[in-house]
Amino acid sequence: MRFDRRVPVAIVGGGASGTILAAQLARRKVGSVLIDGSGRAGRGVAYSTEDAAHLLNVRAEGMSAWSSEPDHFAARFVAEGGARRGFAERRLYGRYLGEILQQAVASGHAAIVDGTAVQARRDGDWHIGLDDGTAIVADALGLATGNREPETLRAFASSGARFIANPWGAAAQAAVRDVAAQGADVLSIGTGLTMVDLALSLDAAGHGGRMVAISRRGLIPRAHADFDPVPVERGDLPLGDLRALGRWLRRRSAEVGWRAAIDSLRPHSQALWQSLHPAQQRQFLRHARPWWDVHRHRIAPQVAQLLARMIADARLEVLAGRISTAREAGDALQVEVQRRGTSSRRTIEAAYVFNCTGPLHAIGRTRDPLLRSLLDAEQIRADHLGIGIDVDERSRASGASRLWALGGLTKGRYWEIVAVPDIREQAAAVADDIAMELAK
Ligand SMILES: Cc1cc2nc3c(=O)[nH]c(=O)nc-3n(C[C@H](O)[C@H](O)[C@H](O)COP(=O)(O)OP(=O)(O)OC[C@H]3O[C@@H](n4cnc5c(N)ncnc54)[C@H](O)[C@@H]3O)c2cc1C
Repeated sequence: MRFDRRVPVAIVGGGASGTILAAQLARRKVGSVLIDGSGRAGRGVAYSTEDAAHLLNVRAEGMSAWSSEPDHFAARFVAEGGARRGFAERRLYGRYLGEILQQAVASGHAAIVDGTAVQARRDGDWHIGLDDGTAIVADALGLATGNREPETLRAFASSGARFIANPWGAAAQAAVRDVAAQGADVLSIGTGLTMVDLALSLDAAGHGGRMVAISRRGLIPRAHADFDPVPVERGDLPLGDLRALGRWLRRRSAEVGWRAAIDSLRPHSQALWQSLHPAQQRQFLRHARPWWDVHRHRIAPQVAQLLARMIADARLEVLAGRISTAREAGDALQVEVQRRGTSSRRTIEAAYVFNCTGPLHAIGRTRDPLLRSLLDAEQIRADHLGIGIDVDERSRASGASRLWALGGLTKGRYWEIVAVPDIREQAAAVADDIAMELAK
């Protein structure tokens, strides 16, 4: 659909954040257009997979898109034979989100624009330029562009097509099919959730080769398991002191188990984050984050079992270390790695190397033309950590007029804002704020 017209709200990004915002605005009878150029509007990166092996890493009971109806997704999953505390296929969740978007469109208060926003400028209104040369004029702009592309890895700058820079793209799927057919080995740079997805895809494709996964610490996500929740009052937490929080977590884990201890922080995680001095937030990102990520963002038990089996069968090896060099060698890449804590080096030969390092953290280095145009015009600025956009307590971009940001772009302020249970709260609050602002 080509647009060249005026709308109340333009939302850039049709993943979970943009979709839920459009749906929340439609409930308030505020019109919006949702701009997404990836063909994934209503699903986004995480839920557009068609791979049945890719499961949600949050239980169905936590995945409602509506903050006011916590059972909304679980009821649907149960109706389809799932369990409230089970882990649905991510593609099912994608269909659920897609339906929510279609309902918003059917209400007449939302429209989808298939295009990439390449520029936005404020000239009384917001003018959003699309890659097809058309423009949308809007009273308000919501940025829901999700995680930015992974950091470029210097060692692979000249590695050609055997280095898969984007693990979610079509080239990655083709590479999985290729190695599965050949039985060739692969290397994953990164050992987190993206690596887990790659391992699952390889297994589902019948890959008989080996996969090596490397990261600085070699930590892989832990599994969900049932436990009795042990809630904690905010007043009982050591706010503003990272070391004291570490001690609290260790003590509490010994008393009630680490899952219960970590999850009891969940309702307070944004307050805890905001209570830390920026120097402590940086310290967390540098030292504690890998540990936090693998304990906090856990995987479904059946996924953990499969990984354990792959490790036991020597189909998956997880290494702590770093990449020294990479070079092409015929039909493969030869990658020299240095293991953590030793000076010993090892050469790994892989038909493909996948960049599973996760999203780019330094917003100042983004190559995204839309974000660049806004940064260059000083409509947005990097937050105090440089990992997202500086936003206020209502998720409004600091210093800009009628500009909101959602999801991963707001990590600097909220930190825990990348999963649906947090995103849906933010989208509902932003929809309230936009409706109030436009009614002025
Ligand atoms: C593999 C994986 C599994 C996950 N599993 C879970 C889970 O089980 N539970 C959970 O709660 N969370 C999970 N997450 C976290 C997940 O990121 C969030 O739940 C949510 O999907 C984030 O959505 P988003 O809209 O912020 O970003 P995205 O999904 O990244 O969507 C952003 C969209 O914006 C588009 N876009 C970007 N720039 C432009 C532009 N300039 N113009 C037009 N379009 C643009 C992109 O193409 C993309 O479609 C998972 C994440 C990943 C990567």
